Amino acid sequence: MPRVAFIGLGRMGHGMAGRYLDAGFDVSVWNRSKAKAEDLIARGARWATSPEDAAVDADAVVTMVADDDASRAVWLGKDGAAANMKAGTLAIECSTVSHRHALDMALELRARGLIYIDCPVTGLPEAAAAGKLTLLVGADAADLERARPYLAPLCNKIRHFGAVGTGTVFKLINNLMGAVQIASLAEGVAIAERAGLDMNLVAEALATGAVASPQVIRHSKRMIARDFSGASFTAALRHKDAAYAVALAEALLPGVPVSRAALAAYETAKTSAPDDDEGKMIEIVSRPK
Ligand code: NAP
Repeated sequence: MPRVAFIGLGRMGHGMAGRYLDAGFDVSVWNRSKAKAEDLIARGARWATSPEDAAVDADAVVTMVADDDASRAVWLGKDGAAANMKAGTLAIECSTVSHRHALDMALELRARGLIYIDCPVTGLPEAAAAGKLTLLVGADAADLERARPYLAPLCNKIRHFGAVGTGTVFKLINNLMGAVQIASLAEGVAIAERAGLDMNLVAEALATGAVASPQVIRHSKRMIARDFSGASFTAALRHKDAAYAVALAEALLPGVPVSRAALAAYETAKTSAPDDDEGKMIEIVSRPK
């Protein structure tokens, strides 16, 4: 049985780890807080006492944690996964990290004889639990071929953008554009409310008109209803992704005023309620000034 170590059992990682159990893999799991692992342990996962313990016998190690700091901690920190992994083991980073971090980790892990796969994802937690993510891969073609059996339980699509780092570039521009759309939607909805429009009609028109991107469709009704139940993507994570994307732009396309405005909007959202749903942007832009 192929052996996978899964590290990071948050909203996304929990469902992804479960997919390996469903697919019959031998799974070891580690999360900073053990409570999130209990049902996976009941389903047959082995609880590891550290990332190192999870990874020591694995054929592939998959990480799904919050950001660069968390990624560095679980791979290279005290008792980190890389401490004792066998040469040739796959190191699959699914977390959304900065471009610089992806390149640095590839260098560090390759120097230890590991195969680094840059593999951020798109899809909400429901898609993660159902194995219906899209994987945005940056890797050498031969490394990707080797990784495919370990990626298959997670996804219904793999997009291979090129060498390590390219998956992360796409993920960051994708989520930066999402930040722009959601912040802009919040402003549009707030203006329509102040103008006294029939907001049921606005909701229907937005969701079916020319600006009806999946982000607009997903967030417009929820913003209008102020219904943020079941937060799936937090203000802190949206801010982090926009910040990493703007940092990448610094080197390639300095300026990006629209992107910077969205980043500033999410800086405010993160400061006021980091763990709230990103759609609560409507409450921030609606506040009397
Ligand atoms: P989440 O529910 O907040 O989970 C974050 C995970 O990171 C938890 O397992 C957390 O451990 C761990 N973590 C945070 N800081 C850590 C540290 N210093 N050391 C070790 N572990 C640490 O976030 P999520 O929504 O699952 O997102 C995970 C990743 O997927 C992020 O990079 C996010 O940008 C990306 N993503 C999310 C979505 C989405 O819809 N949610 C979609 C695509 C991609 P604890 O449980 O102990 O806090």
